[in-house]
Amino acid sequence: MSTRIQPLSDFVANQIAAGEVVERPASIIKELLENSLDAGARSIRVEVEQAGVRRICVRDDGAGIHPDDLRLAVARHATSKIASAEDLAGVATLGFRGEALASAASVARLTITSRHPDADCAWRLAITGGEERAYGPAAHPAGTTVEVADLFFNTPARRKFLKTERTELLHIQEAVRRLALASPEVAFELAAGSRSMERLAGAVAMEDRVAALFGSRFMAESIAVEESGGGMRLWGWVGLPTHSDGRALRQHFYVNGRAVRDRLAGHAVRQAYRDVLFHGRHPVFVLFVELPPSLVDVNVHPTKDEVRFRRSRDVHDFVFGKLSRVLREQRPGERPAQPTVGVGVPPAERQRPIGFERPPAHPPNLARMFQDQDDPEVRDAMAPEDARSPPLGYAIAQLHGIYVLAQNATGLVVVDMHAAHERITYERLKVQLLQGAVQRQRLLVPVAMDVAAAEADIIESRVADFETVGVAVDRTGPASVVIREVPALLGNVNVEQLVRDLVADVVDFGSTNIVRERQERLLAGAACHASVRANRKLTVDEMNALLRDMESTPNAGQCNHGRPTYVVQPLAALDQLFLRGQ
Ligand code: ADP
Ligand code: MG
Repeated sequence: MSTRIQPLSDFVANQIAAGEVVERPASIIKELLENSLDAGARSIRVEVEQAGVRRICVRDDGAGIHPDDLRLAVARHATSKIASAEDLAGVATLGFRGEALASAASVARLTITSRHPDADCAWRLAITGGEERAYGPAAHPAGTTVEVADLFFNTPARRKFLKTERTELLHIQEAVRRLALASPEVAFELAAGSRSMERLAGAVAMEDRVAALFGSRFMAESIAVEESGGGMRLWGWVGLPTHSDGRALRQHFYVNGRAVRDRLAGHAVRQAYRDVLFHGRHPVFVLFVELPPSLVDVNVHPTKDEVRFRRSRDVHDFVFGKLSRVLREQRPGERPAQPTVGVGVPPAERQRPIGFERPPAHPPNLARMFQDQDDPEVRDAMAPEDARSPPLGYAIAQLHGIYVLAQNATGLVVVDMHAAHERITYERLKVQLLQGAVQRQRLLVPVAMDVAAAEADIIESRVADFETVGVAVDRTGPASVVIREVPALLGNVNVEQLVRDLVADVVDFGSTNIVRERQERLLAGAACHASVRANRKLTVDEMNALLRDMESTPNAGQCNHGRPTYVVQPLAALDQLFLRGQ
């Protein structure tokens, strides 16, 4: 190795840059799509062969590249999108670094064909391994086609890092979706070989684009967000906690229209869902943050999918604050009823309840009654008298000691008693915690309890934590403690079990988390513990009280673990079960 310094050739420099920009076929596709979007395309088609390794082709109907600029387009640090350092502060395009095409040209065989309005015909430029192979007129409609073939042909080591075709295809699809979500005005197509993987109509409303990519069920089970404050705007859709994913797949965050993976924003969203989502579940969301470009640095990473905020704390608090309020405000009655019977069953099958044969003609004595109910007047008379009846209606019965059945204006309400009570207790405990500490109640007879030495250690070191959540407990020996006070709200709980649950929570939750998070977790444990256990008989008055409590409790739609606390079965859905009106 020479000990003297020499500049690297452009080719080597480009290959080094490509190492950062082009990790896999999907990264090239992302760059090409960004170029097409920056060029104002209204329709973009992506074709791949062998998951993009053999060939990637992106064709658009955008502004095109002037023939005189074609060679510049593949030169490093040549761009039409910014001209000065000041421009960097207010980048309005997706690209600006002028290195994507140069990088692609250094690790693959690149061909660009483009028709610019000022040119007589289209021109084509072909480059292989940084060397020009062809430059001349060609046939092409207005717009640009970029073809990238034999990716990593000259960097075989790189090729070895690629995953299976299936995985690479998923990355490609994800890249297309991420960009398509933010550009509903543009039509997108993705084809792998002869298989069409994505086909999105252009010029559609944002809702339609989200529905096309996330599914229409998401639209029905999400909350539209539109918030602003402090010069920022937050909008988009967030899934109800009951509509979550096992993996963090459908999570899209955009800053001024740019898809970013932002740890700060991710944290803010997770925090907002913390109370309402079961551990291990992931919220589904598509969120757009808009703020003055001067407050965002987009030039952080070559792939441009990270940003730096000038006032990151403000952005975090804004996103977290707005989202948690939106989520907290979900109460019974504010959302359209969500029938659950038959979810996932195609309508044709839904008409015949599984396991039931079509019933014979109604027995004569009942026939008359059923006929009457078909008469709208009779039906109205049988509906709840008061149209302004509460959202969750009035209790009719209890089922197997687990569910409360109630009737509201739309139909049947089924409440999971345990889950509902848990949520209500938790929210009350939280209010108390916010106001200082949870009110404690002294036990008439302190409860002595044997525990493992390790548990006693935990309890001893967490006495203060336990106290803020309403439990006074002291160590009395190497493996024994005594419980003196419990949260007043919990009533007649099995205190011994409560403390064991809390200790288990502390163990699970570890000690690294911030105090407040831990406290809330402990409260949730306490609330869960104290909730009405299944099989407890409730009087109708008690059931109605539970329904009214739910209506006035934040987050009442799901329990602390993100399971729903109630479902509504509209009359129409019941009718379907019985094949009425068909
Ligand atoms: P950047 O997008 O950062 O400017 P690129 O290397 O991706 O850098 O592209 C270089 C230039 O080539 C762009 O600035 C643009 O002028 C031109 N270009 C690339 N792709 C297209 C396209 N599909 N349509 C029109 N112009 C394009
Ligand atoms: Mg670009």
